[in-house]
Amino acid sequence: MSINIGVLAIQGDVQENIISTQKALDDLGIDGSVTNVKTADDISKLDGLIIPGGESTTIGQLSLVNSSLKVMKEKIEQGMPVFGICAGMIMLAKIADDRIMGKINQPLLNLLDIKLERNSFGRQKDSFEAEISMDSIKIPKFRGVFIRAPSISEANSDIEVLAKFNEKIVAIKKGNIIGTSFHPELTKDVSLHKYFLNLVKSFAN
Ligand code: GLN
Repeated sequence: MSINIGVLAIQGDVQENIISTQKALDDLGIDGSVTNVKTADDISKLDGLIIPGGESTTIGQLSLVNSSLKVMKEKIEQGMPVFGICAGMIMLAKIADDRIMGKINQPLLNLLDIKLERNSFGRQKDSFEAEISMDSIKIPKFRGVFIRAPSISEANSDIEVLAKFNEKIVAIKKGNIIGTSFHPELTKDVSLHKYFLNLVKSFAN
């Protein structure tokens, strides 16, 4: 069976995720394809979705307007695996407050019982890279690229913490959902994209 992966192409790091996913598909020898998706109809046909980094307020508002937000929520609730990266992980949360601005009204998918702090490590100029370990998913070493990254300040007990950096939660998993504060598509390492593809494969079977 061929798997159909989509990268939400509303705003953000779309092309980089297409390239990383294609490389991960090739490396694993999985029969599948990866495409840009924008509309509710595109999303309804997927086996797995990547919500890329970018600006969560923009991604939320535009996906609300074209109804893709609603379809994403339904599909993920039905078990479609999703990988939320940075702004993408923000979209998955129940609560996302900005470190400086506090609560702002932004559309969220509300699929993870987590409270998240946006821009938790500072602004664009405070971007940094750091070594991250995700031992529980057998990725002991990963170069984390953090750009206006969020962190998770509160997580319900059903959330598996995959990684912390400076005591802050920066990678999580719950069933068919994974999220990272950092940007794996901006490195050459596709091990997280491979992990996600294996998750999609196991759910598609
Ligand atoms: N700070 C951005 C937001 O809150 C996320 C940044 C990113 O995705 N690199 O949406």
